[in-house]
Amino acid sequence: MLWEGRRGSSNIEDRRGISGGHIAVGGGIGSLVIGLIIYLLGGNPSQVMDTGPSNAPQTQAEKQAEDKEAQFVSVVLADTEDIWSKLFSNMNKQYSNPTLVMFNDATQSGCGFANAATGPFYCPSDEKVYLDLSFFREMRDRFNAAGDFAEAYVIAHEVGHHLNGHTIRKGGSTPRLELEADEFAGFVLYKLGASLEQAQEVMKYIATAKASSTHPSRASRMLAIEHGWDKAAGASQ
Ligand SMILES: [Zn+2]
Repeated sequence: MLWEGRRGSSNIEDRRGISGGHIAVGGGIGSLVIGLIIYLLGGNPSQVMDTGPSNAPQTQAEKQAEDKEAQFVSVVLADTEDIWSKLFSNMNKQYSNPTLVMFNDATQSGCGFANAATGPFYCPSDEKVYLDLSFFREMRDRFNAAGDFAEAYVIAHEVGHHLNGHTIRKGGSTPRLELEADEFAGFVLYKLGASLEQAQEVMKYIATAKASSTHPSRASRMLAIEHGWDKAAGASQ
């Protein structure tokens, strides 16, 4: 995905390096984070629950890599703003941009305390997407094949929850809400230049074959992405 040098969003709240009050300590937090997220997204955390880097970057090289990651997130968020504002204005409506909060370790959200175990989520009461960048760092390390589009999918999916004012309720989301967010993400990924296969590839890693009470099956999530992708393809003709 071509993203370097492109516009970044101004709706980023960078809380990296700011303590949220409860600090997660030690190595392996990244693995814990991604394991839990994968669980929340409906996948099998045992695939990733082994050793991993600590949550915050330690070396200069790691810091640089994380800043690059932050820039990538900002560009993808800007893309979602462009895509949805244009569509909303075509319908004579105004899109309200969500804010994306980047953090390390822990932070406060309008939906309560967010820490390493919370993972990427959308909070409807403050209209913010919360993202711990270690999630992406680990995703990049482990799911190299899926690359940029897999990360873009995660952002587009959370923005999809914003579009419908979805809330992640206690006990998790519901399959219907997840499919809607997946469809919105599929739409965005087409606009970002992903092939259908590239748009769906993330599901190989984060979805399970069988549905759970909170998340749909891999096949239905892939179909939802396809619906969104097809809609964008049709709209672009
Ligand atoms: Zn979701």
